[in-house]
Amino acid sequence: MIPRIDQTSPVQALYLAFIDRLRTSGFSGDLNPDYATRTVLATDNSIYQVLPQGVIYPQSNSDLAIVARLSQLPEFTRIVLSPRGGGTGTNGQSLTDGLVVDTSKYMNAILEINAEERWVRVQCGVVKDQLNAAIKPYGLFFAPELSTSNRATIGGMINTDASGQGSCRYGKTRDHVLELKTILLDGSEWTSRAITEEEFECVSARSDRIGEIHKLVDSIQREHADLIDAKFPKLNRCLTGYDLAHIRDEQGQFNLNNILCGSEGTLGFIVEAKINLLPIPKYSALINVNYRDFNAALRDATQLMKADPTSIETVDSKVLNLAMKDIVWHSVAEFFPEPASGEKIQGINLVEYTAHDETELKTSVKKFTDQLDADANNGDNVRISYSTAWGNESVNKIWGMRKKAVGLLGGAAGEARPIPFVEDTAVPPENLADFIFEFRQLLDENNLAYGMFGHVDAGVLHVRPAIDMKDPVQEKLVRVISDRVAELTHKYNGLLWGEHGKGVRSEYAPKFFGELYPQLQRIKAEFDPHNQLNPGKIATPAPSIELLKIDEVTTRGQIDRKIPVKVWEGYSEGMHCNGNGLCYNWNPNDAMCPSWKGTRNRVHSPKGRASLMREWLKQMSDRGINALDESKKLKQSSFLFSLPSRIINSLGKRSGEYDFSHEVHESMMGCLACKSCAGQCPIKVDVPEFRSKFLELYYSRYLRPLKDYFIGGLEFMIPTLARVPWLYNAAMKPKFMHRLMAKVAGMVDSPLLTGINLQTSLNNLGIEWATLENIAHLSPAKKSKAVIFVQDAFTSYFETPVVLDSLKALQALGFTPLVAPFKPNGKPLQVHGFLKAFAKAADANATLLNGLASSGIPLIGLDPAMTLAYRGEYQKVLGTNAPNVQLIQEWLVSQKELLTNSKENFHAGDYLLLAHCTEKTNAVSSVKDWQTVFSQLGQTLRVIETGCCGMSGTYGHEAANVDTSKKIYQLSWSAVINNPVNAGKLTATGYSCRSQTKRIDKVTLPHPLQILLKQYKQQT
Ligand SMILES: Cc1cc2nc3c(=O)[nH]c(=O)nc-3n(C[C@H](O)[C@H](O)[C@H](O)COP(=O)(O)OP(=O)(O)OC[C@H]3O[C@@H](n4cnc5c(N)ncnc54)[C@H](O)[C@@H]3O)c2cc1C
Ligand code: SF4
Ligand code: SF4
Repeated sequence: MIPRIDQTSPVQALYLAFIDRLRTSGFSGDLNPDYATRTVLATDNSIYQVLPQGVIYPQSNSDLAIVARLSQLPEFTRIVLSPRGGGTGTNGQSLTDGLVVDTSKYMNAILEINAEERWVRVQCGVVKDQLNAAIKPYGLFFAPELSTSNRATIGGMINTDASGQGSCRYGKTRDHVLELKTILLDGSEWTSRAITEEEFECVSARSDRIGEIHKLVDSIQREHADLIDAKFPKLNRCLTGYDLAHIRDEQGQFNLNNILCGSEGTLGFIVEAKINLLPIPKYSALINVNYRDFNAALRDATQLMKADPTSIETVDSKVLNLAMKDIVWHSVAEFFPEPASGEKIQGINLVEYTAHDETELKTSVKKFTDQLDADANNGDNVRISYSTAWGNESVNKIWGMRKKAVGLLGGAAGEARPIPFVEDTAVPPENLADFIFEFRQLLDENNLAYGMFGHVDAGVLHVRPAIDMKDPVQEKLVRVISDRVAELTHKYNGLLWGEHGKGVRSEYAPKFFGELYPQLQRIKAEFDPHNQLNPGKIATPAPSIELLKIDEVTTRGQIDRKIPVKVWEGYSEGMHCNGNGLCYNWNPNDAMCPSWKGTRNRVHSPKGRASLMREWLKQMSDRGINALDESKKLKQSSFLFSLPSRIINSLGKRSGEYDFSHEVHESMMGCLACKSCAGQCPIKVDVPEFRSKFLELYYSRYLRPLKDYFIGGLEFMIPTLARVPWLYNAAMKPKFMHRLMAKVAGMVDSPLLTGINLQTSLNNLGIEWATLENIAHLSPAKKSKAVIFVQDAFTSYFETPVVLDSLKALQALGFTPLVAPFKPNGKPLQVHGFLKAFAKAADANATLLNGLASSGIPLIGLDPAMTLAYRGEYQKVLGTNAPNVQLIQEWLVSQKELLTNSKENFHAGDYLLLAHCTEKTNAVSSVKDWQTVFSQLGQTLRVIETGCCGMSGTYGHEAANVDTSKKIYQLSWSAVINNPVNAGKLTATGYSCRSQTKRIDKVTLPHPLQILLKQYKQQT
């Protein structure tokens, strides 16, 4: 039995006092000093892990003013505050051992859109894609692009002065900032923008902090103009944090925003921004130019720039190969045909053209491709081939792939994983190839693998060397490589911090700035005299105070190495999360991650759960407990033997006894087990997999709730209950029973049995059970068209008409369906951590199904989640003995001839598909398969992009989850279901999704096979 984790790192008294004071001073947001929240916000995407004392979530500007004012009281001047947005920084920018001030949870409103004047006013926590979705209807967009656009906040972008693809045309974030509203540490609020000389005189005459700041910044600019001019490189990626070179803009106006942009939370809380917008180019095209050598791709980029494209991005073969293995490749494969020569592509330049006029675009692209053709005819042997993608939709898909590239690198096999620490160097583009040549030499000398990609037009290349930070020897390479790369950037007139900001790497600032560094310190001291805001980064307020050092901040590797290797490997599905934050995806119509979207609590995200799992395993290891051994012991022990101690422990839990495991448990229980993380996370973090392992161990110490037995046992009880459906339904229907079920069993809206006798219905349809005996009697003609339908408890007993209609549809298509006798699939057991029982159920079911499959007749399943368990959860316990059960559409799509021949038997129709999350994220082609099947039968089937429906198996039926389940439904499904335009056209593949629309909107959605049956002519 696992021990109680009764103690974790305690919160310092000073911080508890500060939090208490906030509570009594009118702070209206959330105050979270709990260990789970602290653990989850201890990482960003960097190599570091720093445990904060707590996390606070302000609701408003006045909350932040309260935080600021209190922090200046003499008793609190040692309080340290680190603002945080999406937490996607790559250099520890938002990490702190003080208080994290997370503005993304509540301060995320778009306040004002002025389409005519092309600007918007937003709160700092608004995510970049959220903003662009809101202004798209006006034909406008916020131009600076970054790979993390679906989770990075405007506050974070401003503070790192983010930019990325297209920066040569569109500039950096600060180029689009018109006004900033900042809460300064004295609690005052200041709105900054470019100001005239008179306005400047007026402000700098003030005797308060804002007046002092203006006077100081102006004097630094005037007194050190020559030095600033000499020091600051003339790059597209100008030097931020603090950008002394742009204190006055091109018109000579004083603009404090240029100091605030890129200040990485070290000067104040930026709460609102007025941002300049641009019209969305109507037309775009992307030419993918392939190379046989990556260095040649880099060198060629300078040449290609002369053709004046909007942007040029490069990716190397490593990144390309990783993308090919990811779900994302599915959406872009058609744009990357194999070169006719059959040569291997070692690098690609993605060259983008945009225009507001179609002819203009076509002319530019033609001129460009004519040049490529002419070069090829003239014997150019650098480029292998090229292909062109036309239209915003196609171009955006390719950029989507490129955006995922950083994350994908983290998914490379092995323990040495590409990590960020020298990943955003910028040099003048003409120096890039030579710089990278030396950079690669350095990595090769140190035997480091790496992947590369980047914005070659701006001279920025992303390089992530692969290092196993758990290994203390390898860890030392961070210093070796960083120092050498810093020197290299200097040699090539570039910057170490070309795009992602400084963070912990601020260490290199004093050397870089030389005599100017003290001026940065003066600015810091004026804004933050006690060094409380994100200390140790950008600049310190006094010469005696040092910046952080890249090898003196705790790294994740140093903590992770405390987990024994075997345990690490045994939980590998969660250990490699690198915090890139893709699972914080803002888009409500994307499957990732419903529990995060429904709660906006990062503890309830894949990253949150992976972080907690790592910490939990570490805590267990600290106590001498090996989680894998515990699981083995548990499988050999008796349930009854441990009952008394579980009762005692549960009583302790009820009386409030602390155990960190409860915090982990709460996070795990919020997971819908939809498996979108397993499919979409670039690292393939699979929360349901480690969640089930955790639950197994957690319930070795504590009693399980009754509902778990109800859910886990349902598949086993259901055949018996189905014999007396009237009794079961009569017992479930009354209102008092609903209340009782909710209170005692923790279940709500439990579905009712259909009461349809499958045996009788099959007889009526002339369909036989799939037994070896029946199969032996099939004529060769019938056998050639036979298929075995594998039942699942949910559709067979609660949605029998769907099963029968599906079988009828198969008959209509000329197939001979046979139905496998029902055996529990066991997935609900796996989901809830009954791992021993699951292994037994899987084994029994596999024996039956493998026996049937030995006849050579394919096995197919109707429900996506249950069917995909055969290749997911089953393979984990049975390996190659897992039966091969295809999704019905995967198999149908292989029956092309029969389908095409049947086309004339179907009326034409136009339908809309709502695919199940597990299916669309874990069996990517399955959605397209339905479209192919429909089109072969004369139907059009358009896919509607939606997030999760909120049901996901039994999640939405569990009383504790109902509110979140309904909230998740509202985020995406509700509008689709209630849109009158969609009426009669929608079809859903998942049992869960159909139950959810039925219970919330009273809409019964058909399964795609039911649609086909309806369209079948002889049916009408
Ligand atoms: C996979 C990956 C790809 C990336 N690609 C790019 C890219 O293409 N281009 C690019 O520029 N960056 C990129 N980054 C880095 C990162 O996404 C950006 O720096 C982004 O702007 C950070 O935004 P955030 O909301 O996550 O901010 P956070 O990481 O939360 O914070 C960043 C900094 O801003 C400060 N901050 C945040 N909000 C406030 C506020 N309201 N007031 C004051 N200070 C605040 C924090 O203290 C911190 O110093 C990438 C990161 C990852 C993980
Ligand atoms: S769970 Fe996956 S997507 Fe989320 S932060 Fe970790 S690695 Fe990134
Ligand atoms: S399974 Fe679904 S709900 Fe659970 S963490 Fe993964 S994406 Fe989120």
